[in-house]
Amino acid sequence: MVIKFENKEHEYEEWCNMYTNGYVFNRAGGRTGNVLHSVGCWHLNVPSRKGTYSTRYPKYCTENLNDLLAVVGELSKPDSWRKCSACLNK
Ligand SMILES: [Zn+2]
Repeated sequence: MVIKFENKEHEYEEWCNMYTNGYVFNRAGGRTGNVLHSVGCWHLNVPSRKGTYSTRYPKYCTENLNDLLAVVGELSKPDSWRKCSACLNK
């Protein structure tokens, strides 16, 4: 299951606190903006951005990476996506 959080900051934060081993896809668009992260990534925990993560760009969250990988190409159109080099570089 993949859950979309857009302008739902409280729900997004609750989800991240609940699924600390989950994954977050940041759908910022463009050639470099669509990035898959793990929940604990520092990119998702920048203090100055806290409270605005789901309002800046929609977030697609899942506990099952395969569920997200199945739709991430479609979600990224017309652009592509990448894995975050900081948290998913294995
Ligand atoms: Zn990351």
